[in-house]
Amino acid sequence: MICDVLVIGAGVMGLSSAYHLKRLNPGKRVVLIERLGAPGQGSTAKSAGGYRNLLLSGTNRLLAEATIEWLRHIQTETEHDVKMHNTSYLYLLGESQYGRRKPLFEELGKAGVGLKTYDTGELKALIPDLVTDFGGDEEAEMMGLEPIEIGVQGLNCGSVDTDSLSRCLEALFLGLGGEVHYNTSADRLILGAEKELDLPGEPFVWQGAVVKGAETSRGEIRAETTVVAAGVWSERLLDPVGFDSMTRPKKRCMFVFKDPGLERLLYTKGFNEEGVLPVTQMSDAGVYLKAEASEGSLWLGVTEDLGRGYGLEDDPQAEMETYADNAYHALVKYLPCFEGVRPVNSWAGQRAINRFDKIPVVEGMPGLIYVGGATGNGIMKCESLGRVVAAHYAGEEEAELYGGRRVRVSDISVKDRRVEKERF
Ligand SMILES: Cc1cc2nc3c(=O)[nH]c(=O)nc-3n(C[C@H](O)[C@H](O)[C@H](O)COP(=O)(O)OP(=O)(O)OC[C@H]3O[C@@H](n4cnc5c(N)ncnc54)[C@H](O)[C@@H]3O)c2cc1C
Repeated sequence: MICDVLVIGAGVMGLSSAYHLKRLNPGKRVVLIERLGAPGQGSTAKSAGGYRNLLLSGTNRLLAEATIEWLRHIQTETEHDVKMHNTSYLYLLGESQYGRRKPLFEELGKAGVGLKTYDTGELKALIPDLVTDFGGDEEAEMMGLEPIEIGVQGLNCGSVDTDSLSRCLEALFLGLGGEVHYNTSADRLILGAEKELDLPGEPFVWQGAVVKGAETSRGEIRAETTVVAAGVWSERLLDPVGFDSMTRPKKRCMFVFKDPGLERLLYTKGFNEEGVLPVTQMSDAGVYLKAEASEGSLWLGVTEDLGRGYGLEDDPQAEMETYADNAYHALVKYLPCFEGVRPVNSWAGQRAINRFDKIPVVEGMPGLIYVGGATGNGIMKCESLGRVVAAHYAGEEEAELYGGRRVRVSDISVKDRRVEKERF
């Protein structure tokens, strides 16, 4: 097969890239391949689907805010239902944690990010299940847990359903005449010479090397440009051609709880119009919670970092001990309603960690564009990143994001990177 652009990977990044490439180049043949049988079945499906504009790096926040604006447009002004719920984010913090983060929250406030704070009394009134004072609990003291002193709520935050989002992006792409081939795996990138001499062994070191497509499980697909959007698996395609994806995979486990004893917490009133618990970050307990009202459940993500090794897996699984023998001990101190409640479901996915600045990467070499490294934030930036990929393809200096704001393409490249580290 021959096409103009081959996109490898139908996660949110590949889908969004394919859509914008086709939108801006309607005459080009844009082919998207995916080794699995449907869109968004890789890390995208494992995600919590959270979005937030609580990001301190200007570029990072811009990528997220434009995507959030686009999600809101899709949800309210089109026939697509991405199940966007603006339930907000809530950070529950002890005195010293807040002390450390206070300057960051102040910076966010100055940047116009909508925030609201709650003192202990207000939190206790809104979340009766929350223990804010350990009242001489020696175990909690021994564990070094801090009583909750303050809650900081991010208002332009919430979650979407990642399956619906993937299907929406797929429909937009197909609607423009894009082609998708599922159950089609790219085995390796085809590296050729810029000016081919048809000699065995090309490209030689004295020739310009160009990516010319990929060998796939359905045969060779030749393309003028190949976009690698294969998530954490991108390194398998990029390492052999000497291109560094600058990211490493790290597993994160999610657990689902559905129990009558958790209903009051799930349907916490007073933080949002939906009358559910915001996406709640409890950094001292090493977990966050998300209300999934459609199924009456609470999702719990375990946020361990050190101690959780890097490493690529094809089918990562959640280990029950990550919850039961680990996060549980602190969680029940803050939220005793979890006592004795077992998860009804669990899964794990891998996040593509950019260890340097935690901000996504869009970088190219002749014939190739790579997009990835969203460091656990890819859902909330996917629409903007698709636009950056399309601008990179067109050789433009800037990409116009949804809503009209612009970002310099080279700012999130590797070679000419110019972003502030993400400190939040
Ligand atoms: C537990 C967890 C929670 C998360 N929570 C959030 C959150 O709340 N908010 C947020 O914004 N982000 C979150 N993330 C991160 C988010 O899921 C990712 O940033 C995002 O899904 C990355 O999208 P992607 O398209 O790059 O990767 P993927 O979705 O993994 O897509 C890559 C695709 O490429 C395919 N592929 C791989 N190799 C090949 C090949 N050789 N040939 C063909 N196809 C191939 C894969 O099958 C896959 O479908 C979370 C991640 C995890 C693991």
